[in-house]
Amino acid sequence: MNSYINSSNFFEGNNPEKIAAEYGTPLYVYNERILRSHMDSVAKVITKYPYTANYSVKANTNIHILKLALEEGNNCDAMSAGEIQMLLAAGFPEERIFFVPNNVAQEELEFAIHNGIMTSLDSLAQLELYGETCNSLGLNDDDRSRRCAVRINPGVGAGHHEKVVTGGKKTKFGIAEEDIPQIFEICKKYNLTIAGINQHIGSLFMDPTPYLDAVTNLLRIARGFSNLEFIDFGGGYGIPYHKLDDEKDFPMEDFKKKLEPILDDFVKDYGSTPLFKSEPGRFCVAEGSVILGRVQAVKQNAGNVYCGTDVGMNVLVRPSMYDSWHDIEVIRDGNVVSRDNLKEQTVTGNICESGDILAKNRPLPEIKRGDLACILDTGAYGWSMCSTYNSRPRPAEVMICKDGSVKVIRRRETIEDLMKLF
Ligand SMILES: *Cc1c(COP(=O)(O)O)cnc(C)c1O
Repeated sequence: MNSYINSSNFFEGNNPEKIAAEYGTPLYVYNERILRSHMDSVAKVITKYPYTANYSVKANTNIHILKLALEEGNNCDAMSAGEIQMLLAAGFPEERIFFVPNNVAQEELEFAIHNGIMTSLDSLAQLELYGETCNSLGLNDDDRSRRCAVRINPGVGAGHHEKVVTGGKKTKFGIAEEDIPQIFEICKKYNLTIAGINQHIGSLFMDPTPYLDAVTNLLRIARGFSNLEFIDFGGGYGIPYHKLDDEKDFPMEDFKKKLEPILDDFVKDYGSTPLFKSEPGRFCVAEGSVILGRVQAVKQNAGNVYCGTDVGMNVLVRPSMYDSWHDIEVIRDGNVVSRDNLKEQTVTGNICESGDILAKNRPLPEIKRGDLACILDTGAYGWSMCSTYNSRPRPAEVMICKDGSVKVIRRRETIEDLMKLF
């Protein structure tokens, strides 16, 4: 692909230079049309059986983006009481929120119970704590909150980096299959009912095979539970981070075709048809955002060219944390610079850390001071992982709406905002 910005009409006819001038850099820019189309597409992964896509909001919790998910018919997964509060504020009714925490304090479980939110427990210890919490709150034996879910560790994992593999024997997540008998003992002790089971094998796979294997495996495990209301297969669908090198999209149609017979097999003899769920985060939001950063200085050190931008690891941590690749387009005077002539350059941020690198020895059009570096695919685990390291206030977020208008969906943080906490 020559240019994602141009081929997707990302700025909907707006001049990115004007947007940068008006709202400042570094700036997260979202595209409403692209966000909605991804959210709509995950909502249709399963059409033959009852199904919901639960947008995993840790990928991006901007309340305006949560509202888009609400409108596109996604339910949501929350990882903390804070995320639950964001979702309630965005207008999600409690029955469309699923709480999937790990290692939480009793207060967070109480908060979920008070709000009537279905909770999945990630270990036997947390299941026990959940039971104790129901008792200490004096809930009746038939109280709806005595129905909960458990997260199963599927014994297999997948993902783009060891840090994002969440299934398998070497991860902290879920309850191992051999411990399932103890789930039933704890349920009996506290009058709990397992309403659903969930899993999540990891993040960012482009080949659906490990996920399909994990679905088959979870459905096998599900047969050991009776009358499940729902079975949740987890998230992790990838997006092409190397799209400028023609990486293809996640094969959604092929995936759907292969998934259906696996579900058919299960439904045929389970006795009832549960609600199926998945938990996509990245897929919903990643491609709907770019970061506009300003190139402040270009220099040479020992033969290497360093292009210093204002997109530090505090703005986008994925490259430093996971060695993640983000495609970069260069914008000069409002236009994308052609990729016909490329030269190896290293693009860095403005943070005092040698690991503060966006792209190392990357073939890019020759970058000049004053250009805009447009970092692609930053909608997931972008702003939500921002920090104020080096006392740099966190960037603003703007949305390019479907009608082409630009609206601020989070104002830029200020030094005063940071000072207030002292
Ligand atoms: C983060 C997370 C997800 C979403 O993962 P993506 O790779 O963004 O799709 C889903 N489920 C759980 C439990 C998670 O922790």
